[in-house]
Amino acid sequence: MTCELVFVGTELLLGDILNTNAQYLSRQLAAIGISVLHQSVVGDNPDRLRQVLETAFSRADTVLTTGGLGPTKDDLTKEVCADLFQKKLVLHDESLRRMKDYFDVKGVVMPKTNEKQAWMPEGAVIFENTNGTAPGCAMEQDGKRLLMLPGPPREMKAMFECSALPYLRQFSDGVICSREIRTFGIGESSMAQTVSDLLDKENPTVAPYAKSGEAMLRVTAKAATETEAEALLEPVVQEILQRLDGYVYGVDVPNIETAVVRELLRRNISVATAESATAGLIAKRLTDVPGASAVFGCGIVSYQDHIKEKLLLVDPRVIEKDSAVCETVAVQMAQGARAQSGADLAVSVTGLAGPGKDDRGRDPGLAYLALTDGRETFTRTVNTGQTGPDCRDFNRTVFSSQALDLIRCYLRDHPDAAPNA
Ligand code: ATP
Repeated sequence: MTCELVFVGTELLLGDILNTNAQYLSRQLAAIGISVLHQSVVGDNPDRLRQVLETAFSRADTVLTTGGLGPTKDDLTKEVCADLFQKKLVLHDESLRRMKDYFDVKGVVMPKTNEKQAWMPEGAVIFENTNGTAPGCAMEQDGKRLLMLPGPPREMKAMFECSALPYLRQFSDGVICSREIRTFGIGESSMAQTVSDLLDKENPTVAPYAKSGEAMLRVTAKAATETEAEALLEPVVQEILQRLDGYVYGVDVPNIETAVVRELLRRNISVATAESATAGLIAKRLTDVPGASAVFGCGIVSYQDHIKEKLLLVDPRVIEKDSAVCETVAVQMAQGARAQSGADLAVSVTGLAGPGKDDRGRDPGLAYLALTDGRETFTRTVNTGQTGPDCRDFNRTVFSSQALDLIRCYLRDHPDAAPNA
């Protein structure tokens, strides 16, 4: 199957919104082995949309669109696509009923204009919208397939996973399975070098990629059945785990916070945080994981020096001598947070997020981290090397990831660590 993506919306052309649907769909389709040949963005203009669709179908057998399924006059995707496939629009009673129910739940009478969203191309497979009103659909004719999904990412993603993906799978020959191996503490190029011979493999394929200071590998196998695909994956995944031992925080886990919280929960070990430069980001990321309340009870944001002294008992003489961004302050913050919270572990961060230098002339990107279990204290110095005008967000994200990794490494290196209470 060859596929093209068409994103409809004048806002996209004006740069008012970022085309996140492109990234999501491209990755999802690649993961199931569907080749995306081209992507196009077109405004809410019926002639230009038709032109883009005709061009796409001259090169590919399957086209996916997002956007333009709304209730207003400029939402024209369905009308243009139906016309291209020479189909009439007919009222889809079930979609109309679902839309009325959707408004009923909110205690609102459905505006008449929304009815337009229930008019669907005759004979199309209808995709239910579980997060909004506009249904999507798929049409097929002469070996060409056209799938329409709504623009809002939350609606589009749910519909893609629940309806479009199973629909597309019918046409793919064989099964595609993949595993995502997530690492921390090794750069993308070092990781790729460690597994360089595996990157030339054809089935399964091994592909490296990097995101927010982390490096990952996706291993993808294609076979006639899921069992056969899994059998192809398993030895390669095991080989990679062995070669990247110590850096891998999880396979098929969404992020490092999930891996850390799952391990804390499994061992019933609690953690507290003391944050300066990250100002609550570590606590936020830990509590993004459902169930975190069983192992996380306290996060202290101690941004100003006097709060570090008052709440975390950091020695003002240390701050006076070495500034608040130094290893000793990080250690005292972690010890203070552990004492205040009664948690088994406490982790701390003090650093320079940027973009400016600090009053000692140090560049941003520098942070000191500490973790204590009450007996031993471990420290880590981080330097992201990011000093540009937009470095602040990046530095804070990396500092928080490093703090999460400090917890991960502690748990990995202390298999016998247990709750104190
Ligand atoms: P609606 O019923 O909300 O009108 P729609 O299917 O007609 O849905 P659009 O009107 O094209 O979709 O877009 C609605 C909103 O969805 C946009 O304002 C934007 O916030 C978001 N959106 C649309 N397309 C994309 C895209 N490609 N990437 C990210 N967000 C998008």
